[in-house]
Amino acid sequence: MSILALAVASLLACAQSQITTESRPSRPAPTHAEPLPGIHVFSTAPYGDVGLDGNSIAIVGDDGILVFDSNGTPDAAQAVLSEIRKISRAPVRYLVHSHWHWDHWYGAEVYAREFPGLTLIAHEKTRELMAGPAIEFNRPGLERDLPAHIAAVEKAVADRRADSGAADQKDAAALERHLAMDRWFLQQKRGVHPTLPNLTFRDRLTIHLGGRSVEVRHEERAITPGDAYLWLPAEKALVAGDLLIYPVTFALFCYPSGWIATLRKLEALRPDVVIPGHGATLRGSEHLALTRELLERELAAARETKAAGEGQEPCKKRLLGDPKFCELRKKITGGDASAEATFELYLVDWFLSRAFAELEAPLDDGIPTER
Ligand SMILES: [Zn+2]
Repeated sequence: MSILALAVASLLACAQSQITTESRPSRPAPTHAEPLPGIHVFSTAPYGDVGLDGNSIAIVGDDGILVFDSNGTPDAAQAVLSEIRKISRAPVRYLVHSHWHWDHWYGAEVYAREFPGLTLIAHEKTRELMAGPAIEFNRPGLERDLPAHIAAVEKAVADRRADSGAADQKDAAALERHLAMDRWFLQQKRGVHPTLPNLTFRDRLTIHLGGRSVEVRHEERAITPGDAYLWLPAEKALVAGDLLIYPVTFALFCYPSGWIATLRKLEALRPDVVIPGHGATLRGSEHLALTRELLERELAAARETKAAGEGQEPCKKRLLGDPKFCELRKKITGGDASAEATFELYLVDWFLSRAFAELEAPLDDGIPTER
Protein backbone atom coordinates (compact mmCIF):
# COMPACT_ATOMS: atom_id res chain seq x y z
CA MET A 1 0.00 0.00 0.00
CA SER A 2 1.42 3.41 -0.95
CA ILE A 3 1.89 6.17 1.62
CA LEU A 4 -0.98 8.05 0.01
CA ALA A 5 -3.32 5.06 0.12
CA LEU A 6 -2.31 4.46 3.74
CA ALA A 7 -3.05 8.10 4.62
CA VAL A 8 -6.44 7.90 2.90
CA ALA A 9 -7.21 4.62 4.65
CA SER A 10 -6.34 6.02 8.07
CA LEU A 11 -8.36 9.17 7.38
CA LEU A 12 -11.32 7.01 6.43
CA ALA A 13 -10.84 4.91 9.56
CA CYS A 14 -10.72 8.08 11.61
CA ALA A 15 -13.88 9.46 9.97
CA GLN A 16 -15.56 6.10 10.55
CA SER A 17 -14.57 6.03 14.21
CA GLN A 18 -15.91 9.58 14.66
CA ILE A 19 -19.18 8.41 13.20
CA THR A 20 -19.45 5.25 15.26
CA THR A 21 -18.76 7.04 18.54
CA GLU A 22 -21.33 9.78 17.95
CA SER A 23 -23.35 10.38 21.09
CA ARG A 24 -27.10 10.47 21.06
CA PRO A 25 -28.51 14.00 20.94
CA SER A 26 -31.34 14.69 23.33
CA ARG A 27 -34.62 13.64 21.77
CA PRO A 28 -38.11 14.13 23.17
CA ALA A 29 -40.12 10.98 23.91
CA PRO A 30 -42.49 10.00 21.10
CA THR A 31 -45.92 11.60 21.32
CA HIS A 32 -48.78 9.23 22.02
CA ALA A 33 -52.46 9.36 21.11
CA GLU A 34 -55.17 6.73 21.59
CA PRO A 35 -57.90 7.60 19.07
CA LEU A 36 -59.83 4.42 19.97
CA PRO A 37 -59.41 2.13 22.99
CA GLY A 38 -56.36 -0.07 22.51
CA ILE A 39 -55.23 1.66 19.29
CA HIS A 40 -52.15 3.74 20.01
CA VAL A 41 -50.40 6.13 17.62
CA PHE A 42 -46.79 7.15 18.26
CA SER A 43 -45.06 10.01 16.45
CA THR A 44 -41.44 11.02 16.85
CA ALA A 45 -39.69 14.36 16.42
CA PRO A 46 -37.97 14.90 13.05
CA TYR A 47 -34.21 14.20 12.78
CA GLY A 48 -33.33 17.89 12.45
CA ASP A 49 -33.47 18.75 8.76
CA VAL A 50 -32.30 15.35 7.50
CA GLY A 51 -35.25 13.02 7.97
CA LEU A 52 -38.47 12.12 9.67
CA ASP A 53 -40.22 8.94 10.78
CA GLY A 54 -43.57 7.57 9.79
CA ASN A 55 -46.17 7.07 12.50
CA SER A 56 -45.90 3.81 14.41
CA ILE A 57 -49.17 2.24 15.56
CA ALA A 58 -49.66 -0.34 18.30
CA ILE A 59 -52.89 -2.33 18.42
CA VAL A 60 -53.39 -4.18 21.68
CA GLY A 61 -55.46 -7.40 21.70
CA ASP A 62 -56.04 -10.02 24.37
CA ASP A 63 -53.36 -12.29 22.84
CA GLY A 64 -50.67 -9.74 22.19
CA ILE A 65 -49.78 -6.61 20.29
CA LEU A 66 -49.58 -5.82 16.60
CA VAL A 67 -47.28 -2.97 15.60
CA PHE A 68 -47.71 -1.27 12.23
CA ASP A 69 -44.49 0.36 10.99
CA SER A 70 -41.31 0.52 13.01
CA ASN A 71 -39.89 4.05 12.42
CA GLY A 72 -36.79 5.03 10.48
CA THR A 73 -34.04 4.19 12.98
CA PRO A 74 -33.46 1.54 15.66
CA ASP A 75 -33.27 4.34 18.25
CA ALA A 76 -36.74 5.63 17.38
CA ALA A 77 -38.19 2.11 17.38
CA GLN A 78 -36.64 1.54 20.83
CA ALA A 79 -38.18 4.80 22.07
CA VAL A 80 -41.61 3.75 20.76
CA LEU A 81 -41.25 0.27 22.25
CA SER A 82 -40.48 1.86 25.64
CA GLU A 83 -43.76 3.78 25.37
CA ILE A 84 -45.65 0.62 24.35
CA ARG A 85 -44.22 -1.08 27.44
CA LYS A 86 -45.86 1.60 29.62
CA ILE A 87 -49.24 0.61 28.14
CA SER A 88 -48.99 -3.18 28.10
CA ARG A 89 -46.55 -5.94 29.05
CA ALA A 90 -48.06 -8.28 26.44
CA PRO A 91 -45.64 -9.45 23.72
CA VAL A 92 -45.50 -7.82 20.31
CA ARG A 93 -46.51 -10.77 18.15
CA TYR A 94 -46.88 -9.09 14.76
CA LEU A 95 -45.02 -6.31 13.02
CA VAL A 96 -46.57 -5.17 9.74
CA HIS A 97 -44.74 -2.85 7.38
CA SER A 98 -46.69 -0.55 5.10
CA HIS A 99 -44.09 -0.19 2.32
CA TRP A 100 -40.36 -0.10 1.58
CA HIS A 101 -39.53 3.54 2.45
CA TRP A 102 -36.85 3.55 5.18
CA ASP A 103 -38.79 5.84 7.51
CA HIS A 104 -41.31 3.04 8.11
CA TRP A 105 -39.17 -0.09 8.66
CA TYR A 106 -35.54 0.63 9.56
CA GLY A 107 -36.33 0.08 13.25
CA ALA A 108 -37.55 -3.51 12.66
CA GLU A 109 -34.46 -5.12 14.20
CA VAL A 110 -35.46 -3.80 17.64
CA TYR A 111 -38.72 -5.80 17.61
CA ALA A 112 -37.10 -8.89 16.06
CA ARG A 113 -34.45 -8.91 18.81
CA GLU A 114 -36.87 -8.28 21.66
CA PHE A 115 -39.54 -10.76 20.47
CA PRO A 116 -37.92 -13.88 18.96
CA GLY A 117 -41.28 -15.39 17.87
CA LEU A 118 -42.25 -12.23 15.99
CA THR A 119 -44.20 -12.59 12.75
CA LEU A 120 -42.96 -9.85 10.48
CA ILE A 121 -45.37 -9.15 7.64
CA ALA A 122 -45.28 -7.18 4.40
CA HIS A 123 -46.70 -7.41 0.91
CA GLU A 124 -44.69 -9.81 -1.26
CA LYS A 125 -43.50 -7.00 -3.56
CA THR A 126 -42.46 -4.90 -0.57
CA ARG A 127 -40.31 -7.75 0.72
CA GLU A 128 -38.64 -8.07 -2.68
CA LEU A 129 -37.82 -4.36 -2.66
CA MET A 130 -36.62 -4.40 0.97
CA ALA A 131 -34.27 -7.28 0.16
CA GLY A 132 -32.18 -5.23 -2.29
CA PRO A 133 -33.47 -2.25 -4.28
CA ALA A 134 -34.53 -0.28 -1.18
CA ILE A 135 -31.05 -0.64 0.31
CA GLU A 136 -29.47 0.46 -2.99
CA PHE A 137 -31.83 3.42 -3.16
CA ASN A 138 -30.59 4.63 0.23
CA ARG A 139 -26.92 4.08 -0.54
CA PRO A 140 -26.16 7.40 -2.32
CA GLY A 141 -27.72 9.28 0.58
CA LEU A 142 -25.57 7.48 3.14
CA GLU A 143 -22.36 7.47 1.14
CA ARG A 144 -22.56 10.84 -0.59
CA ASP A 145 -25.44 13.22 0.19
CA LEU A 146 -25.57 13.08 3.99
CA PRO A 147 -21.76 13.21 4.40
CA ALA A 148 -21.69 16.21 2.01
CA HIS A 149 -24.42 17.91 4.01
CA ILE A 150 -22.51 17.25 7.24
CA ALA A 151 -19.31 18.64 5.71
CA ALA A 152 -21.19 21.81 4.71
CA VAL A 153 -22.54 22.26 8.25
CA GLU A 154 -19.05 21.61 9.69
CA LYS A 155 -17.69 24.37 7.46
CA ALA A 156 -20.48 26.73 8.52
CA VAL A 157 -19.64 26.06 12.20
CA ALA A 158 -15.93 26.72 11.58
CA ASP A 159 -16.75 29.97 9.73
CA ARG A 160 -18.98 31.20 12.57
CA ARG A 161 -16.37 30.25 15.18
CA ALA A 162 -13.72 32.17 13.22
CA ASP A 163 -15.83 35.33 13.52
CA SER A 164 -15.65 36.97 16.90
CA GLY A 165 -19.10 38.50 17.48
CA ALA A 166 -21.40 37.11 20.18
CA ALA A 167 -24.11 36.53 17.55
CA ASP A 168 -21.69 34.44 15.48
CA GLN A 169 -20.82 32.31 18.52
CA LYS A 170 -24.53 31.81 19.27
CA ASP A 171 -25.10 30.80 15.65
CA ALA A 172 -22.17 28.39 15.88
CA ALA A 173 -23.60 26.76 19.02
CA ALA A 174 -26.97 26.25 17.30
CA LEU A 175 -25.25 24.81 14.24
CA GLU A 176 -23.24 22.46 16.44
CA ARG A 177 -26.44 21.02 17.87
CA HIS A 178 -27.72 20.62 14.33
CA LEU A 179 -24.45 18.92 13.38
CA ALA A 180 -24.67 16.51 16.32
CA MET A 181 -28.13 15.44 15.15
CA ASP A 182 -26.99 14.97 11.54
CA ARG A 183 -23.96 12.86 12.55
CA TRP A 184 -25.96 10.73 14.92
CA PHE A 185 -28.67 10.19 12.31
CA LEU A 186 -26.07 9.07 9.77
CA GLN A 187 -24.62 6.68 12.34
CA GLN A 188 -28.06 5.26 13.09
CA LYS A 189 -28.87 4.69 9.43
CA ARG A 190 -25.48 3.21 8.61
CA GLY A 191 -25.79 0.82 11.53
CA VAL A 192 -29.19 -0.58 10.52
CA HIS A 193 -29.48 -4.36 10.13
CA PRO A 194 -32.21 -4.66 7.51
CA THR A 195 -34.72 -7.11 8.98
CA LEU A 196 -36.94 -8.73 6.39
CA PRO A 197 -40.52 -10.00 6.66
CA ASN A 198 -40.92 -13.73 7.44
CA LEU A 199 -44.50 -13.75 6.12
CA THR A 200 -45.74 -12.12 2.94
CA PHE A 201 -49.22 -11.65 1.52
CA ARG A 202 -50.74 -10.64 -1.78
CA ASP A 203 -54.31 -9.34 -1.23
CA ARG A 204 -55.63 -9.98 2.26
CA LEU A 205 -54.52 -11.45 5.55
CA THR A 206 -56.62 -11.49 8.73
CA ILE A 207 -54.95 -11.53 12.12
CA HIS A 208 -56.98 -12.63 15.11
CA LEU A 209 -55.39 -10.79 17.96
CA GLY A 210 -57.70 -11.95 20.74
CA GLY A 211 -60.90 -9.94 20.89
CA ARG A 212 -59.92 -8.05 17.75
CA SER A 213 -59.63 -8.80 14.06
CA VAL A 214 -57.10 -6.87 12.06
CA GLU A 215 -57.19 -7.14 8.27
CA VAL A 216 -53.92 -6.50 6.47
CA ARG A 217 -54.86 -5.43 2.95
CA HIS A 218 -53.43 -4.42 -0.39
CA GLU A 219 -55.38 -2.99 -3.31
CA GLU A 220 -53.45 -1.77 -6.35
CA ARG A 221 -50.01 -0.27 -6.78
CA ALA A 222 -50.39 3.19 -5.26
CA ILE A 223 -47.53 4.91 -3.42
CA THR A 224 -45.33 1.85 -4.03
CA PRO A 225 -45.85 -1.52 -5.72
CA GLY A 226 -46.77 -3.25 -2.44
CA ASP A 227 -48.61 -0.88 -0.12
CA ALA A 228 -50.21 -2.52 2.90
CA TYR A 229 -52.83 -0.93 5.11
CA LEU A 230 -54.87 -2.12 8.08
CA TRP A 231 -58.61 -2.24 8.34
CA LEU A 232 -60.27 -2.95 11.69
CA PRO A 233 -63.89 -3.70 10.68
CA ALA A 234 -65.41 -3.68 14.18
CA GLU A 235 -63.81 -0.35 15.06
CA LYS A 236 -64.16 1.11 11.53
CA ALA A 237 -60.54 2.19 11.84
CA LEU A 238 -58.21 2.57 8.89
CA VAL A 239 -54.43 2.60 9.33
CA ALA A 240 -53.38 3.97 5.98
CA GLY A 241 -49.58 4.02 5.88
CA ASP A 242 -48.41 6.56 3.29
CA LEU A 243 -51.48 5.98 1.11
CA LEU A 244 -52.59 9.07 2.97
CA ILE A 245 -50.50 11.61 4.85
CA TYR A 246 -51.91 14.55 6.74
CA PRO A 247 -51.90 17.17 5.40
CA VAL A 248 -49.92 16.48 2.20
CA THR A 249 -49.14 13.00 0.89
CA PHE A 250 -45.59 12.42 -0.42
CA ALA A 251 -46.32 11.26 -3.95
CA LEU A 252 -42.75 10.38 -5.07
CA PHE A 253 -42.54 7.28 -7.34
CA CYS A 254 -46.28 6.70 -7.15
CA TYR A 255 -48.65 4.88 -9.51
CA PRO A 256 -51.26 7.55 -10.29
CA SER A 257 -54.24 5.55 -11.53
CA GLY A 258 -53.70 2.71 -9.03
CA TRP A 259 -53.37 5.21 -6.18
CA ILE A 260 -56.64 6.92 -7.14
CA ALA A 261 -58.40 3.52 -7.35
CA THR A 262 -56.96 2.58 -3.94
CA LEU A 263 -58.14 5.82 -2.32
CA ARG A 264 -61.62 5.15 -3.72
CA LYS A 265 -61.62 1.74 -2.07
CA LEU A 266 -60.48 3.22 1.25
CA GLU A 267 -63.27 5.80 1.08
CA ALA A 268 -65.80 3.05 0.35
CA LEU A 269 -64.93 1.47 3.71
CA ARG A 270 -66.43 4.60 5.33
CA PRO A 271 -63.91 4.70 8.15
CA ASP A 272 -64.68 6.57 11.35
CA VAL A 273 -60.99 6.96 12.16
CA VAL A 274 -58.13 7.34 9.67
CA ILE A 275 -54.56 7.07 10.94
CA PRO A 276 -52.25 8.45 8.24
CA GLY A 277 -48.63 7.46 7.55
CA HIS A 278 -47.44 10.80 8.90
CA GLY A 279 -49.38 13.51 10.72
CA ALA A 280 -52.38 13.64 12.98
CA THR A 281 -55.20 11.09 13.18
CA LEU A 282 -58.35 12.09 11.33
CA ARG A 283 -62.04 11.54 11.97
CA GLY A 284 -64.02 10.46 8.90
CA SER A 285 -62.87 10.19 5.31
CA GLU A 286 -62.98 13.82 4.17
CA HIS A 287 -59.22 14.12 3.71
CA LEU A 288 -59.14 10.88 1.72
CA ALA A 289 -61.83 12.25 -0.57
CA LEU A 290 -60.12 15.63 -1.00
CA THR A 291 -56.80 14.00 -1.88
CA ARG A 292 -58.47 11.56 -4.30
CA GLU A 293 -60.45 14.36 -6.01
CA LEU A 294 -57.30 16.42 -6.40
CA LEU A 295 -55.37 13.52 -7.95
CA GLU A 296 -58.23 12.71 -10.32
CA ARG A 297 -58.30 16.31 -11.49
CA GLU A 298 -54.57 16.25 -12.09
CA LEU A 299 -54.62 12.96 -13.96
CA ALA A 300 -57.46 14.23 -16.18
CA ALA A 301 -55.52 17.44 -16.85
CA ALA A 302 -52.39 15.43 -17.71
CA ARG A 303 -54.39 13.29 -20.14
CA GLU A 304 -55.91 16.36 -21.86
CA THR A 305 -52.63 18.25 -22.01
CA LYS A 306 -50.85 15.23 -23.45
CA ALA A 307 -53.61 14.72 -26.05
CA ALA A 308 -53.04 18.35 -27.10
CA GLY A 309 -49.35 17.50 -27.61
CA GLU A 310 -48.11 19.42 -24.58
CA GLY A 311 -46.10 18.39 -21.53
CA GLN A 312 -45.93 18.69 -17.77
CA GLU A 313 -45.18 22.42 -17.43
CA PRO A 314 -48.20 23.66 -19.42
CA CYS A 315 -50.30 21.13 -17.50
CA LYS A 316 -49.09 22.51 -14.17
CA LYS A 317 -49.78 26.07 -15.29
CA ARG A 318 -53.27 25.11 -16.32
CA LEU A 319 -53.95 23.43 -12.97
CA LEU A 320 -52.62 26.36 -10.95
CA GLY A 321 -55.14 28.57 -12.79
CA ASP A 322 -58.05 26.14 -12.26
CA PRO A 323 -60.38 27.47 -9.48
CA LYS A 324 -61.58 23.98 -8.45
CA PHE A 325 -57.97 22.75 -8.15
CA CYS A 326 -57.09 25.83 -6.07
CA GLU A 327 -60.08 25.22 -3.81
CA LEU A 328 -59.03 21.59 -3.21
CA ARG A 329 -55.45 22.71 -2.59
CA LYS A 330 -56.58 25.22 0.01
CA LYS A 331 -58.72 22.64 1.78
CA ILE A 332 -55.80 20.16 1.87
CA THR A 333 -53.08 22.54 3.05
CA GLY A 334 -55.29 24.81 5.17
CA GLY A 335 -53.11 27.61 3.76
CA ASP A 336 -50.19 26.51 5.98
CA ALA A 337 -46.87 27.71 4.46
CA SER A 338 -44.89 24.49 4.93
CA ALA A 339 -47.81 22.37 3.70
CA GLU A 340 -48.00 24.64 0.64
CA ALA A 341 -44.32 23.99 -0.15
CA THR A 342 -44.65 20.22 0.16
CA PHE A 343 -47.92 20.33 -1.80
CA GLU A 344 -46.24 21.81 -4.85
CA LEU A 345 -43.26 19.46 -4.67
CA TYR A 346 -45.12 16.18 -4.10
CA LEU A 347 -48.72 16.57 -5.13
CA VAL A 348 -48.02 18.68 -8.20
CA ASP A 349 -44.48 18.14 -9.54
CA TRP A 350 -43.92 14.53 -8.52
CA PHE A 351 -47.48 13.42 -9.18
CA LEU A 352 -47.60 15.03 -12.62
CA SER A 353 -44.23 13.56 -13.62
CA ARG A 354 -45.53 10.09 -12.72
CA ALA A 355 -48.88 10.79 -14.41
CA PHE A 356 -47.14 11.72 -17.67
CA ALA A 357 -44.85 8.69 -17.37
CA GLU A 358 -47.85 6.41 -16.84
CA LEU A 359 -49.64 7.91 -19.85
CA GLU A 360 -46.52 7.19 -21.91
CA ALA A 361 -46.02 3.53 -20.95
CA PRO A 362 -46.92 1.13 -18.12
CA LEU A 363 -44.86 1.87 -15.01
CA ASP A 364 -42.63 -0.88 -13.68
CA ASP A 365 -42.08 -2.03 -10.09
CA GLY A 366 -38.45 -0.98 -9.84
CA ILE A 367 -37.00 1.77 -7.67
CA PRO A 368 -34.71 4.19 -9.51
CA THR A 369 -31.29 4.03 -7.83
CA GLU A 370 -30.65 7.75 -8.32
CA ARG A 371 -33.05 10.45 -7.15
ZN1 LIG B 1 -43.27 7.93 5.01
